[in-house]
Amino acid sequence: MSGTDALHDYDVETDPPAIEPVEHRIRLDFMAGGPIRRDQLLEKYNSWNGGPENRDPWKQSGKAKPVGLKYAEETCRRTFNEEERYYEFFEDDRALSKAPAFLAHRLRQCQSATDPDEALHSERKRRANWYRKLIPWLNLYQVLKESSYGTLFRSSAGPQPNAEALTRQNTLVGMVVLGDDDQTPSKYARSHSLPAKYVIREADLSCSESSAAAPPSEFGIELPAPLLVGKYTTGGRYPFIPWSDGLVCSCPYKHDQLWRVLCKHELLAAVVASDRNSIFLPVTKGLDVPHRARRFVSPDTSNRHGKWHTI
Ligand SMILES: [Zn+2]
Repeated sequence: MSGTDALHDYDVETDPPAIEPVEHRIRLDFMAGGPIRRDQLLEKYNSWNGGPENRDPWKQSGKAKPVGLKYAEETCRRTFNEEERYYEFFEDDRALSKAPAFLAHRLRQCQSATDPDEALHSERKRRANWYRKLIPWLNLYQVLKESSYGTLFRSSAGPQPNAEALTRQNTLVGMVVLGDDDQTPSKYARSHSLPAKYVIREADLSCSESSAAAPPSEFGIELPAPLLVGKYTTGGRYPFIPWSDGLVCSCPYKHDQLWRVLCKHELLAAVVASDRNSIFLPVTKGLDVPHRARRFVSPDTSNRHGKWHTI
């Protein structure tokens, strides 16, 4: 992977930290696709060797491809084509102000390169690689495996785990997350008349266990903060972080490689949101949290996307 990683080297100090529109669109695609059947999940697919030059792993395994994934692949093609116009006007700052944040940032760097045309060409190649290979083959296909999304439900969830079955085995808990310097959870709970089990230190969440994961405070969330914490059947407790105009899961899979646009927890969240036909996730247990901490998809993208699902 080192070659691919280098292609997508990402510096949070200099790169705009917004969620890219394609990430929201893909969530909406999986929401439109609805619950995924267990027998649609891949078993043996090795995403590290995958790429568009290979045969579609669903065809190869004789399985039905999840509808949401078909939509998402179409979205990748479409979004790449939509972005073509920004390459043409990459020296026009006004045109770039309408481009997705990360792309705009990269194109501005091309303007000041020694050979701007060459820089532009290689940026376009990077972007094509993201939409054609990294997002579908290395990220989405990997999440749609029994060993990934399939670990979030046990057999009692049935052949096609829907929102109700998924949230019976995984809970979206409204909690107050405290920083290291705040008072103890039990003191905080007492002084705010809250049940102590819904107050937790950031350090006790699973996202604090791995350096690849992203605790909310690293995202600039001021603690104490009321957040939605996914408590999963796999044992993980990962808060959703309000970021840009949606939510981002704080798990290591999501943050270890910044080109990834979806983790298994976000896929579960998409199926749950789909059932409610809402861009807001429900609190299935615990304290109420503000809308901002439950808004899974950007309202802006939600208003514009999803009108071409004709596959
Ligand atoms: Zn996750």
